[in-house]
Amino acid sequence: MITSTSDPQPADFADVRATNLAVVLRFVREHAPCSRADIAASTGLNKATVSSLVADLIDRRLVRETGLTGNRVGRPATMLVLDGSPYAAIGVEINVDYVTAVAVDLSGERLLSWRRSFQGPDVTVSQAMAVVAGLVRRVTTRMAREERQVLGLTVAVPGLVGTDGVVRVAPNLGWRDADLCGDLAKALRDPGFPVQVDNDANLAALAEHRFGPWAGTADLVYLAGGIGVGAGVILDGRLRRGGQGYGGEIGHIQLDPLGAECRCGRRGCLEAVAGIGAVLEHAALSPAEVEVELEETVRLARAGDAHTLAVLAGVGRDLGRGVSMIANLLNPEVVVLGGYYVPLAPWLLPEIEAEARGRVIAPDTGGCRVVASALGYGAAALGGAARVLDLVDSGRLPRLS
Ligand SMILES: [Zn+2]
Repeated sequence: MITSTSDPQPADFADVRATNLAVVLRFVREHAPCSRADIAASTGLNKATVSSLVADLIDRRLVRETGLTGNRVGRPATMLVLDGSPYAAIGVEINVDYVTAVAVDLSGERLLSWRRSFQGPDVTVSQAMAVVAGLVRRVTTRMAREERQVLGLTVAVPGLVGTDGVVRVAPNLGWRDADLCGDLAKALRDPGFPVQVDNDANLAALAEHRFGPWAGTADLVYLAGGIGVGAGVILDGRLRRGGQGYGGEIGHIQLDPLGAECRCGRRGCLEAVAGIGAVLEHAALSPAEVEVELEETVRLARAGDAHTLAVLAGVGRDLGRGVSMIANLLNPEVVVLGGYYVPLAPWLLPEIEAEARGRVIAPDTGGCRVVASALGYGAAALGGAARVLDLVDSGRLPRLS
């Protein structure tokens, strides 16, 4: 669900306090180890207020004292770091050919990472729901055994997700108007934590922005390379989804009016000519076993196979046209190639960069760098967990039950 991420409005005392707790928590996350005096100096809150807020956060086990002392100016101070060990945030990704689950604690430490194969196009929405609900139940059972409270779950889907959590269309899964959010909450029998659904590229962009090597980059675009191709757009440090949440569908920008038919029913879309399905088809490999075939593509490219290298160069040029549209329109600092593009990046990146240099009007492509994701196939699921942690950052603090 694309819920509002705006900070709570300081309408009354409780809201002001929740906002201030979130401010202190965010400060500790970004600056730990830090002292109460550091927090007061940087946030403008007075010292007594900071002490009271920190006491509250320690009670909730969101923050802990390290026992270290900072010896900066004046007397030594007790230093604070994030705790969050009694909590877990869960992210799940449904992809065309696999389902992934990850759980992280409040500081982003990975608690588990599970992956299973999945034949998305061959199963109905309710069968997919049963698979996801089963996986989530196993994760929550594990978290309960570790005495962790689950803060929330976000499910990543390769499709358009409305503000109500309904998947409007997921062309590569064959889904239309699937109430994933509602059905999943029902299947989990009112789990007692928020369940959200969001687009996979959006969530992968959040993961890069919070956990990746480019974390904190204000203007970052994630280009998700799966059977479908989508973009997650972060501008001025915030995920931008557009008016109804349907932005970022770069995969359906037409590159070639006479090009291959796309799963969306149109022709010559970026994902139809440069998605992983297209890579494998051009290379005369079966898109059914993507990962196996991808390994074979990498092996052939390493061995210098001329046909494979030509296919990858062509796909790189098409991706370069996509990246130059992104760069001309948004001027991001970095475009992160993710998913199945990662193992192919050594062959794709030079072509993308050359194409972008020729097509972006700004000098030096507006400073835009194109890099391969370091987060692996779990990026969207990790972003699902990041989405849950964003809720905490925006003031929805848990209380230990
Ligand atoms: Zn299309």
